Amino acid sequence: MKGLADKPNYMIEILEGGVTLEDVFDGHIGNQALAEKSAFVVGDLGALMQQHVCWQSIVPQLQPYYPVKVNSSPAVIEVVASLGLGFVCTNKTEMSLVLEHGVPPENIILSGVCKQLAHIKFAAKNNIQHLVCENEAELSKISRLHPSAKLLLQLTTEAHAAETSMAFGSSLKSCRHLLEAAKELGAQVMGVTFHIPSSCQDLQQAYTHALSDARCVFDMGVDLGFNMSILDIGGGFTGSEFQLKQVESAIRPLLDAYFPPLSGVQVLAQPGTFYVASAFTLAVSVIGRKVVTRHWDSLAQGENNEDTEFLYYMNEGVYGPFSCKLLGNSIPAPSVHKVSRSPPRRVVYPSSLWGPSLDQLDQVVERCLLPELSVGDWLLFSNVGAYGLDDFTCLSSSSQLPVYYTVSTSDWYEMQEAGVALDSAMKNFSVVHYSA
Ligand SMILES: *Cc1c(COP(=O)(O)O)cnc(C)c1O
Repeated sequence: MKGLADKPNYMIEILEGGVTLEDVFDGHIGNQALAEKSAFVVGDLGALMQQHVCWQSIVPQLQPYYPVKVNSSPAVIEVVASLGLGFVCTNKTEMSLVLEHGVPPENIILSGVCKQLAHIKFAAKNNIQHLVCENEAELSKISRLHPSAKLLLQLTTEAHAAETSMAFGSSLKSCRHLLEAAKELGAQVMGVTFHIPSSCQDLQQAYTHALSDARCVFDMGVDLGFNMSILDIGGGFTGSEFQLKQVESAIRPLLDAYFPPLSGVQVLAQPGTFYVASAFTLAVSVIGRKVVTRHWDSLAQGENNEDTEFLYYMNEGVYGPFSCKLLGNSIPAPSVHKVSRSPPRRVVYPSSLWGPSLDQLDQVVERCLLPELSVGDWLLFSNVGAYGLDDFTCLSSSSQLPVYYTVSTSDWYEMQEAGVALDSAMKNFSVVHYSA
C-alpha cells in the first residue's frame, strides 16, 4: 500500500486543444458559484517558465538564484529546481524545503543579516557552504559554528539605504575590517553580494557605485589572500522584459570593465519577483455593494447633474491575501471576469474595493474605474505571485485559498524540449489533462 507521502500533493492541469487560462477561470468560477464562492488562485507554471526563457535570452551571463522568501509554494520550488536554478534561503525551513526538492547543497546560499545559531549549524550539517555575512558578530558566529563556510560579504548600496532608511549591508570601510577579521579567524571569503531594489530611480548610478565598490572589496580580498570568485548582484528585477534590458545595458559595460569573463568571476543574481509575480492571479468575488450618488446643480445651464460612485465589498481583504496593502503597497486595479455571452460593459464609474471586515483599514483599492458590478461578479487581480502567496495559504479569512496550477500544452512541450523533464522531476505532482 502506498503511504500518504507517496501521494501527489499538487495537481497540474495541462491545457489542451485550445483551452485558455480564461476557460480555467470560467470553470473554477462556475464550480465556486455552486459552492461557497470562496476566492482562489490560479498559478500558471508556463508563465514562470517563460520568464526563465526571457532571463536566459537577455542576461545569460547572470546565473539566477531564486530567493525562496518571495514565494515558497511547493509548485514554484519544484519548477524552479527543475529549471536548474540555485536558491537563496534565509532560514532552516527554507533550506529544508529546498533540500527536500533534491537541490544540491552547493546550489544553495544562506542569506540574511543575522542568522540564528541553529540555522548556521543546520547549514554546516547539510553541507551548505555559501553564507552571506555583513558584520563582525555574524562573522565570529559563523566561523565558530561553520568553519568551512565560504562567505559572501553583504555590501551596502546607496539605493538600498535610501529605500529602507537604514543601511543594511556593510560599507566599503567596514568591509575592510570584516576581511581582516576573517583573515584572523581563518574564515574563507569568496565574494561579494549587494541588492538594489526595483524601486530604485537611477539604475545606472546605483549599479555604477555598487559594482565599483564590489571591485574594491574584491581587490582588498585578493590582497589579503582570499580566492575572490563570486559576485552576486541581488534582485530588484520587476518582471518586465523592458526593465531587465535596462538593467542589462546598465551593467554590461561595468561587468566588462570590472569583472570581465577572463577574470573567472562567477556572476549571480537573485531574481525573485521576476520569476513568480506574473504567474499567479487571484480571483475574488463581489459580496456586497453600495452606491453613492452626489447631486449638484450646474448654475450655467440650470441642469441637474449626478455623480455616481460605487463601493464594492469582496470576500477577501487586507487580513487575507491583500495583506501587503497594510505594509503601504498599493494594489493595482483588477480586471472584471467576463461572463461568457454577456454584452461588454463599456461605461465605467469611479469605484473603491473593500475587504469584508468592516475595518476602515480594509480598503484594498482606493479608487479605480470599473463597469457597474453586481453581487456575485468576480474580479481578477493579476501579478500576485511575489510576496504574499504564503498568505494565501495561511492568513486568508477562508483559512486556505485553493491554488490551481496550470500549464498550456505548448509551454509544457517547450519545457520538455528545454530538457526539463517535469513528469519525472516533479514527483510531488500529478498531471491531469484539461480539455474543452
Ligand atoms: C528579497 C530579496 C531579493 C529578491 O528581490 P526581488 O526584487 O523580489 O527579485 C534579492 N536579494 C535580497 C538580498 C533580498 O532581500
